[in-house]
Amino acid sequence: MRIYLQETGEFLFEIPEVDIGDICLLNQKHYYVVCVVHLVEKKAFVKQIEFKKNAVEKLFENHIICPYCSHELMDSWEHKDIGKMECGRCGSIFDYIREVSVSYSTYPDQAAEVIEIRRTR
Ligand SMILES: [Zn+2]
Repeated sequence: MRIYLQETGEFLFEIPEVDIGDICLLNQKHYYVVCVVHLVEKKAFVKQIEFKKNAVEKLFENHIICPYCSHELMDSWEHKDIGKMECGRCGSIFDYIREVSVSYSTYPDQAAEVIEIRRTR
C-alpha cells in the first residue's frame, strides 16, 4: 500500500497494510497517523503528528489532552469528572481527572458611611 501525506499529496513510503488510526514511525523520526484508506487503489493518506511513546502527564490544562499525541478534546466538559479514555486520534489509553478551582468576584453595591472631619488648627 502506498502512503501519501494528506495535506500535500506527497508520496511518503510503502508498506504491506495499514488501517485507519494506525501510527507509523518513518525513519525513527516522524510519526504519522493513518486518516484515509483506499483499499481498491491500495493507497492511504496520513497526517504527521507529534507522538511520545514515553509520555508524561499533562497537568492543569483547559481541555483533556492526550499525553501521547497532544490531541485536544474540545468537548472535554461532556465527559465524566474522572475516567479512562482512548485517544480519538492515536488510539493510546490514558486516565484523566477534572480539577475544579474556585475563585470569587466582587461587585460594588453601597459604600459605608464616612465621618468627615475638618481640623481647624
Ligand atoms: Zn493521542
